[in-house]
Amino acid sequence: TDTTSLLAVDGLSAWYGEAQALREVSLRVGEGEIVTLVGRNGAGKTTLLRCLMGLQGRCSGSVSFRGEEITRLPAHRRARQGLGYVPDDRGVYSTLTVEENLTLPPRVGPDPWPLSRVYETFPRLAERRAFPGTKLSGGEQQMLALARVLRMGARLLLCDEPTEGLSPLIVQQIGDILREVRRQGTTVLLIEQNVHFALTVADRHYLLAEGRVVESLDNDEMRTREHELLGYLGI
Ligand code: ATP
Repeated sequence: TDTTSLLAVDGLSAWYGEAQALREVSLRVGEGEIVTLVGRNGAGKTTLLRCLMGLQGRCSGSVSFRGEEITRLPAHRRARQGLGYVPDDRGVYSTLTVEENLTLPPRVGPDPWPLSRVYETFPRLAERRAFPGTKLSGGEQQMLALARVLRMGARLLLCDEPTEGLSPLIVQQIGDILREVRRQGTTVLLIEQNVHFALTVADRHYLLAEGRVVESLDNDEMRTREHELLGYLGI
């Protein structure tokens, strides 16, 4: 077992029927890190996060979290251990208010945030606390999705492209929030197609292609190769 990594993934494979979506993926995320998964559409990024959360049907390999093997645990048990998944559709309950979205889910994880701390970290949500989900902008929905998982007690956020479809100003705000969340002790693994944003927010990066981790890059390596990677990712 790995004693230094918060999350250790070894030889993770996943299938949709006959089609293999992940091939022997291995990676590490240390406590307090922000790490991105980059790769073209269809590379397997979403499938990987779903496997880590225990939401993916068929997968094999080993996942350990805080030194404990969680490979065979269902999603609710992983949430109890401190994993929190923020899906790309954000999963906001549209008929409920911001505050109801925050307070309804059970506080299952090891580090549930009090509402006051949520509102201090997400002042926008404090202003919008009585608004229904339908009245929120895309950026506000994303903030709510992140805040809800923190309120539930997650120690590791698994975020599926939190910046997708958001304006540059809001993307910057999401970046500030992720850094603040990390400062308060939460670790983040996020899917990110925006290489520039990935460089400003994260410490390290894994490049996925056709279900494999093909490269592991630190910020300096990523910066040096930004042009090449932008071309590769088709952006
Ligand atoms: P995106 O960011 O566009 O979601 P991704 O890198 O997250 O891309 P995945 O969504 O994980 O990639 O998909 C990996 C592979 O698995 C792709 O070939 C995709 O077509 C396939 N796949 C994804 N979901 C399903 C599904 N429900 N049924 C069958 N194949 C799927």
